[in-house]
Amino acid sequence: MHCVPVDRRSFVIGAAIAPACAAQRGGARAASTAGDVPYYELDVALADEASALIVRGTVTLPASLSRRDTLTIALADTAADVRIWTSEDGEAGADLPLVRNEDGVGDLRRWRVALPAGREPPERLSFSLRLEQRSGLLFALARDAVFVSAAAFAWYPQVVDENDIRLLGVGVLSYRLGDLTVVSSGQRLGSTADDRVYFRAQTPNYFAFAAGRYLAPAGRPEHSRVWLLQSRPSTAQFGARIELVLRALEREFGPLPDRRLDLVEAPTEAARAAGFDGASLDGFMLLIGDYFEQPFNTAFFAHEAAHQWWGGSVRRRGLPGAYLMDESLAQYGSLRAVEALEGEDAARSYRRTGYPGYYTEYSAFWYLARSLAGIDAPLAEFHAADDFTARRVANSKAMFVWDMLSRVLGRRRFAAFLSSFASEHAYQRVSLDVFMQSLRSVAGADAWFIDQWFTRVGAPSFSFAWRHDGRNVTLNLAQAPPYYRARLPVRICGVAGQSAQVHVEIMYAEAQAQVAFPHAVAAVELDPDYTVLRWTEPMRARAVALLPYTRGDILLNQGNAAAAEGAFREALEQALPEGGELRFQLLRGLGDATSSTRPQEAVAFYRQSLSAAPALHEALPEVWRSLGDAFRAQGDMAGHAEAAAGQRAAILALHTRRAR
Ligand SMILES: [Zn+2]
Repeated sequence: MHCVPVDRRSFVIGAAIAPACAAQRGGARAASTAGDVPYYELDVALADEASALIVRGTVTLPASLSRRDTLTIALADTAADVRIWTSEDGEAGADLPLVRNEDGVGDLRRWRVALPAGREPPERLSFSLRLEQRSGLLFALARDAVFVSAAAFAWYPQVVDENDIRLLGVGVLSYRLGDLTVVSSGQRLGSTADDRVYFRAQTPNYFAFAAGRYLAPAGRPEHSRVWLLQSRPSTAQFGARIELVLRALEREFGPLPDRRLDLVEAPTEAARAAGFDGASLDGFMLLIGDYFEQPFNTAFFAHEAAHQWWGGSVRRRGLPGAYLMDESLAQYGSLRAVEALEGEDAARSYRRTGYPGYYTEYSAFWYLARSLAGIDAPLAEFHAADDFTARRVANSKAMFVWDMLSRVLGRRRFAAFLSSFASEHAYQRVSLDVFMQSLRSVAGADAWFIDQWFTRVGAPSFSFAWRHDGRNVTLNLAQAPPYYRARLPVRICGVAGQSAQVHVEIMYAEAQAQVAFPHAVAAVELDPDYTVLRWTEPMRARAVALLPYTRGDILLNQGNAAAAEGAFREALEQALPEGGELRFQLLRGLGDATSSTRPQEAVAFYRQSLSAAPALHEALPEVWRSLGDAFRAQGDMAGHAEAAAGQRAAILALHTRRAR
């Protein structure tokens, strides 16, 4: 479906808001409910001195679910005083019986509602409920901070279809949360005299909101804004940067319905109790303060923003396609945004070793290093149950593979494909089969690429040689099975600064090319910008040397901290060169293995690791961040601030090195 542009001038702001919403409701539904979406009117209020959240409202059922005997809804187990009745009967009508479904997750509990006979569409149900719990997944209820997302926590009755899928909703949301400022899914319409704030969600959503004592944000409301709980001068450019990120992503994925994405601070303790440091919700991102204390992290924000398309609007149907259709495309968006905002050099170093201050493991090197220790999977066959392998491979190899495919097909053609796919399947669930079929059909004669890169593990390793006879340079490329087809650029540099660029295409064991170059040759480089994912000799030597760390880190990620600690200690007992990378990584590993249970020891390990670190190592910002977390775990906020400053300096140093 196509997104209808919103003319914000047509909104009536102020006391007349409620009638204006009602008047526009028909239009809004026509624009956004082509996909058969329930329409909500929600009223959210705090009660009993912010110890309870009262949710009242109505839902108009989609035509496909009308005239049934029963309706399935999702609603958190902890919802109290739940009442549902038919709107026709009004408040005085009898409550409809609710039957609890025993299986399923508590926060997304399914209930069956028995519907009375003889109703006429459109069918509308009214409901009211009360939430008193303090925290849950993507949920917090405290005096100074309230947030919740229906993506993980059914805080209002979510209509469930015959395939047990919770439907997205559209509608009007209103909030009365005392003196807290509300950021919500949808567009803010205005407020009424009784301090009720209205939002209209006209694109389908799992409704989410955050409320807190936010400072007035800079920037115009039609642009992305930054909502902070305390003044942070370092964020002055964040609003402008996220706008640039969104425009870069729109060039790859097509228009974002609201065209903006607010960044909203969440108190760290509340966020961690709710299971996140950063969460990309419908219409805004919720982040702990740490993200605002560091330089704007283009890779991180672009990844999270890209989830508005992949995982937010286009959602996967069934388990196959997990991580490929959401994580890896979000990560590809991140790479493209870094190239758009910071240039080709920044993108090259992101592909090779990661983006400064983001996860270095999201890079070719760390994909290759872990593949040596058995962490690998074909991109089209990720197992949702193995989150560690699937997420790491999706965010490293798959990111790179999408980038290669877009070079093979042409940047514009690939962007046109992703944009039309995202538009055709907006607010729908799509199976992996449908996705792969579309991909194969756009690849056409290049479908070999899909077989080669999506259905097997590993990466190629090419050997390269050249000779110069005074007139011509002859290039020889060779590989051992399994063969990869690839077209690799080669750059030839002459001693007086002459240069030539050619491509060598290889399909099987060998390929040769010849290029006229009647100058003295200074250097011949294969794929100098590392555009094809492959092993190089230095990468292999480094990955082999780091294996003791890589193996321990995998144990840690698989939840076996004790075994990981043992592996790191054992490796450290070997004679290791001072200033070498392995020693640095092993000490860092010991910090990671002890941070949740013995944060004091972790601080000591991280400090040793930092003093053993090779200069400008790409993982330095992460070690500083981990050190900060270990300080925080002990309540040492001065230590945390010191580590945040170290992290910031390390990020800036890595950016500066790259810029040279
Ligand atoms: Zn993600």
